[in-house]
Amino acid sequence: MGHPVLRRPAEPLNAAAIGSDEIKRLIADMIDTLHDYGGIGLAAPQVGEPIRLAIVEIPEDGSRYGNLPGMSLSVFINPTITVLNGETHGFWEGCLSVPGLRGFVERPQHIKVDYLDINGSADSIELNGFLATVFQHEFDHLDGKLYIDRISDTRLLAFEEEYMRYLAPREDDEVPVEVD
Ligand code: ZN
Repeated sequence: MGHPVLRRPAEPLNAAAIGSDEIKRLIADMIDTLHDYGGIGLAAPQVGEPIRLAIVEIPEDGSRYGNLPGMSLSVFINPTITVLNGETHGFWEGCLSVPGLRGFVERPQHIKVDYLDINGSADSIELNGFLATVFQHEFDHLDGKLYIDRISDTRLLAFEEEYMRYLAPREDDEVPVEVD
C-alpha cells in the first residue's frame, strides 16, 4: 500500500500479448507469490504490473474458507463484473498489499464475470456468496482500489492479532478470511 501502481487503473491486456513469454512469466511469478503468501487470489498490480490480469485458486480442502467449492488455478484477463443482485453481505477481508490488517466489507453476493482466459478465449462465470466477494476484491485491484476504500464503518478495521482476539466471527459459516 502506497505504491502508485496499486492506485491507478491497470491497462487492458492486448489480445496479441496473451500467450507471450512475458505474460507466461508474469503468471508464473504470480502463482509463486500466491502460493508463498497462502492466499486465494492475486492481481497483477500487486506484483507491480499495471495489467488487467488476476489469478484465483481455491484449494479443494477449502475448510479455511468455509464450505467453498474448490476452483483450480484460473487466470482472468480484462474481466468485467455485472452485478446480478445488488443485495450485499459482509465478510472480513485481508490483502497481501495491506499486510497485518483485516477489515469488514459489504459487497453484492451475486455477480457475473466476463473475461478472457489464459488462451485468450472469451468466457463468463457466475459467482455467489464469498466467491463473489473474492472476485470483486481482486478486480478492484485492476481499478486502483483497495478493500479499505470500501469499509463503511472504519471501526471494523483491525490488526490481525486484535481481529483474531476480539472480532473473528465464531459461526461456522463466517470463518476468518484472507482474500489475497
Ligand atoms: Zn487484495
